Amino acid sequence: MKPDTASQALLDAIDGDTMLREVQEWAAINTGTGNIAGLDRMAGILADAFSTLPGDVDLVEPATVTAISPEGREFEKPHGRHMVLRVRPEAERRFVLTGHMDTVFPEDHPFQQVSWLDDETINGPGTADMKGGLNVILHTLKTFETMAGASRVGYDVMINSDEETGSLASRTLIEELARGKYAALTYEPSALPDGTLAHARGGTGNYSITLRGRSAHAGRNPQDGRNAIVAASDLVMRIVELAKDDITINPAKIEGGAANNVVPDLAILRFNIRPKSTDAMERFDGELAPILAAIEARHEVSVHRHGGVTRPPKPVDDRAQKLFDLVRSCGAELGQTIGWKPTGGVCDGNNIASCGVPVVDTMGVRGGAIHSPDEFMIVPSLAERAALSALVLEKLANGDPL
Ligand SMILES: [Zn+2]
Repeated sequence: MKPDTASQALLDAIDGDTMLREVQEWAAINTGTGNIAGLDRMAGILADAFSTLPGDVDLVEPATVTAISPEGREFEKPHGRHMVLRVRPEAERRFVLTGHMDTVFPEDHPFQQVSWLDDETINGPGTADMKGGLNVILHTLKTFETMAGASRVGYDVMINSDEETGSLASRTLIEELARGKYAALTYEPSALPDGTLAHARGGTGNYSITLRGRSAHAGRNPQDGRNAIVAASDLVMRIVELAKDDITINPAKIEGGAANNVVPDLAILRFNIRPKSTDAMERFDGELAPILAAIEARHEVSVHRHGGVTRPPKPVDDRAQKLFDLVRSCGAELGQTIGWKPTGGVCDGNNIASCGVPVVDTMGVRGGAIHSPDEFMIVPSLAERAALSALVLEKLANGDPL
């Protein structure tokens, strides 16, 4: 396929060299989810970059997030600030564009540098996932602002600092910004290096169950002990029975325990669930509570539950499908073949979809091997995807309702 003349002009208007230079600079800044200083630096750079657009940029404080320590104590986890740009909030038809500035690579990880793999491909931390995508958002909007109809619509851009650990410190913000929006675009990298989009997604939840029993001497008076490890093991055997075709359950870790001659009084069971439907998600929640009560009664331990579903399943409804169809037809105008496939992965698109807003969540660059030191980004996809998104926004601004 070849783009038509108007589409070629759109593509030509996008400065791919500047995009590449910015992505190289951004990828060189470590923004592991736990690196608050790095995230703060990145947030400042993004705030400057996005303030070249109309509207107001804010750096929003993260929400309070707690976790359970290996000693069974609840503690607060620090997070970076999130960037929000609001443009023409008074417009009737408004969009939300989202991305994340954090990566899975901590400050002390060996993978910190950007290098070239071949003429068209760079290797670097967060190049595909998703500093490339953040840059696509920026240049999409710069281009869109020059197009007919842009001034009639508004949009918010949200770039969070904690997507890679489940967006616990930004979930409320995402949902607040998504609610009432006409459509949403999220800039995760394409599902495949050829540009294929992720379609329906399952959901995910993480749980930490703290079980407290009573310690005793393993030889002298074991009958006085209440073994938390035994209780946790029983719990594992009961929750795996809840796995069905529409939900998987993965007991991942048991912490706690004691010396060999002591009845252990503490165990923390950590597990992950992947519901494929809202039904499965709600069913699991209903089934877990009586199991925890049964474990308390059977083993005479106390049970504390922490966590839950953080990303609801993302089915593709009629309006979301229309948005996929629109992305495909815009791709065709630009000479890009766009397909899609379901995936087991999750992202902020799950949380946006749960607000009833149609979303395509892999509008970012083409690339692959994400979350590994082989992560790569296909350089020409920067301009290609910015043109695609700008055209999608132009149609959304001027077209019939979805
Ligand atoms: Zn990502």
